[in-house]
Amino acid sequence: MGMGLVHEFRKARRIRQSLHPEDGLALSRICKQIHDTEKALNLAARPYLNRCLHVCQGLCCRNVFLNEIIGFEDFVYILSLMPDLDVEIENRLKNLNRLYTADCIFLKDSRGPCIFPADIRPEVCITSFCIETPNASRQIGAVKWGFQKLAWSVRLCRTRTLFRKIELIR
Ligand code: SF4
Ligand code: SF4
Repeated sequence: MGMGLVHEFRKARRIRQSLHPEDGLALSRICKQIHDTEKALNLAARPYLNRCLHVCQGLCCRNVFLNEIIGFEDFVYILSLMPDLDVEIENRLKNLNRLYTADCIFLKDSRGPCIFPADIRPEVCITSFCIETPNASRQIGAVKWGFQKLAWSVRLCRTRTLFRKIELIR
């Protein structure tokens, strides 16, 4: 089992569950903003994505080293928008090969498509293309900026949670 990624996933779940309601709302807002930027990116990148679908049939989801593609913030984002996927993600992570590259464990029936909807995808999955994407560069930047903001906000929330605990035991 790829403990690295499992650990990141469980950390994302734990942090989401332990958030103060105010912090929970702030993170949900950022995740909704990312969701909007992903929708906009899918629209702008349609011609490039058609190539992925019809020419390669999702080559980029095969033979991957998933630890380099997905991480903690992606799980925070996905769980925020689709909390029902919690158990399925955990179960699929049990099949992760952390030594070798392999077809992505998040491909439905091992063939695809991805179990995550097109506008609720991990950052690297949705912003990486094998060709120049001039018509979508602004939207790619917006998605990346959203995930950056999410990373900062999670750090801030964790610090605030720590301070609240210190206040309580004083
Ligand atoms: S990004 Fe390029 S290599 Fe990957 S699936 Fe799309 S067209 Fe194929
Ligand atoms: S998470 Fe989805 S889009 Fe990303 S590599 Fe896996 S199957 Fe492909």
